[in-house]
This record gives sequence, structure tokens and C-alpha cells, in this order.
Amino acid sequence: MSETQLPTGEPNITHDNRRYWQGTAEGRIDLPRCTACDLVIWYPRSICPDCQSMELEWETMSGLGTVYSYTVTRAGVGRKWREHLPLVVAYVQLDEGPIVLTNLVDIDPSIIEIGMAVTAVFHDTGHPISDEDGAPTSAILRFTSVS
Ligand SMILES: [Zn+2]
Repeated sequence: MSETQLPTGEPNITHDNRRYWQGTAEGRIDLPRCTACDLVIWYPRSICPDCQSMELEWETMSGLGTVYSYTVTRAGVGRKWREHLPLVVAYVQLDEGPIVLTNLVDIDPSIIEIGMAVTAVFHDTGHPISDEDGAPTSAILRFTSVS
């Protein structure tokens, strides 16, 4: 897991998303797949948003995807983000299908293109995933270029 330059908040860990946060804490993307219609579900939840089935199984994603859309933010952010400008907010489509809202990091914004291949990186939030002793710290999912 790498340190981030971007600010990270404390995630809201719930019954439905605990497995996802456990995965990112360990450097992988775990998401539910609907066994009725085969949809990989983003964001994690206990009911398929497509067919309303509750028959879901967790899978580990490849961590690979492509830039679906993005914007380069150069101004208009709060104080704790200002020193990180320009920053890139993007939709990344995972190879398994879901489109996630995220940041692209460690990429020169001038070379970003729709369809660009990206890979997951995990940025430590500093907040443990549970109150248990020795619980790993949670991690925010972001993406960087493949190379
Ligand atoms: Zn379904």
C-alpha cells in the first residue's frame, strides 16, 4: 500500500461494504457479483441493483481498467486539497464492468485519454477498518497509468 499525496477521509464502513474495505486494506478490489444476472456490483451492497436478487458472491477484481471519463481540476477546491492541484477526478471502468468514481494519480494530466489503461493503487487512510486490536487501516482506491 502506498502513501497518498491526496487527502483521504475516514470511510463509512457498513455491513454491506465491510468485505470491500477489508480487500482494499489488503491491496485488492473485492466486489459482489450477482449469481442471478452476473452483474458485478458497484458500489458494494446486499441487493443487485439490476434484478433485485440477494444471491451475491464476492470476487476479487483484476485491478485493471480504462479511463471512461475524467476532468482536471485546477481551482475551486478547499484548503486541504489546494496544494494538490491540478488533480484528476475520473470514472474508471474496471475490466469486470463496473464504472467507479475515483482519482487518477501520478499521471501527467496532459497525457490522459479516454480509454487509457490504468491500474489500481491503494492509499492508506490511517483509519482502521474496525475497532478490533490489530485491525488493518483502510485504503482508498485510486488508479494510475499502466507502465
Ligand atoms: Zn442481478
